[in-house]
Amino acid sequence: MVAAGRRGSIAFFITLGAGLILIAILLYIGWVVLNWRTGILVFLGVLLLAFIIAGIVLNTIFLVREIRRNEQHDAFINAVTHELKTPVASIRLYLQTLQTRPVDDAKRSEFYRTMVEDSDRLLATIEQVLRTGRIGSARGKPNLSRVDLGQVVEECVTRTRTLYHLRPEGLAYVPGPAVAILADLDEVQAAISNLIDNAVKYSGSEVRVTVETATVDDDHVAVRVHDHGTGIPKTELKQIFKRFHRAPGPVAARIPGTGLGLYIVRSVAKRHGGRAWAESEGPGRGSTFVLQLPVAK
Ligand code: ADP
Repeated sequence: MVAAGRRGSIAFFITLGAGLILIAILLYIGWVVLNWRTGILVFLGVLLLAFIIAGIVLNTIFLVREIRRNEQHDAFINAVTHELKTPVASIRLYLQTLQTRPVDDAKRSEFYRTMVEDSDRLLATIEQVLRTGRIGSARGKPNLSRVDLGQVVEECVTRTRTLYHLRPEGLAYVPGPAVAILADLDEVQAAISNLIDNAVKYSGSEVRVTVETATVDDDHVAVRVHDHGTGIPKTELKQIFKRFHRAPGPVAARIPGTGLGLYIVRSVAKRHGGRAWAESEGPGRGSTFVLQLPVAK
């Protein structure tokens, strides 16, 4: 409802801007026709017209941007609130059960395991929000050191396997030649983990994810994460790297998320002099994410 209202106001401002520009052009033509003999007046008229048109265009761009930003903030607040509330509510429920009812040992250890998983999820969301703030601020420079990329990727793969209880066939790692990069270990780990977690998260019930490292040329190395999941429409391939952006549609409604993961991936790539992008043949046809980084000399 709110999104439809906003889309209505965006359409309204664009139409208003275009209408005003049209009126200004018509006025200008009338002005030229009426004053074609008085050159200076015509010149001033042209200048005035240029100012008016530039003003209207800037105003419209500004308004549309502001409306979009508000829309994204709302979506983000909703997503984060959901991501924070759900695990807390779950932990609370287990604790209440443990407090009020006698529970046998097997059940109790299952409750503890679920509570640990929920608190991990909670911590991951909080960490994601804090990292976005850190990366976004101009002051926070990456803390660079020589890092073995293969080792980092392997650790991230192992972590995701444990988190999602996956077998090596479900989440495979194909190491390339050993390469060192100059990187902020924490940031690169976060970026790679985000890509692998997403590949699993957007795979649906059958997880078949492959993570590879490969040298691109003398100066660059790439981490490629390939899945056979929901895929991404062509129009969304760039948009999804924007802060708070989630591809619209039933997938986003079904799978929880904050829209921060890929923003972090692209920001980390940029801060290290690399780049990140997504490839997909479209919905239902899987996707591949590539993180390209410069090798350490
Ligand atoms: P989140 O997953 O928390 O929504 P991200 O920034 O990690 O945020 O991803 C942004 C959007 O990109 C997701 O909402 C999803 O629409 C899309 N996306 C990311 N990774 C994949 C993937 N492996 N397969 C399909 N869609 C993806």
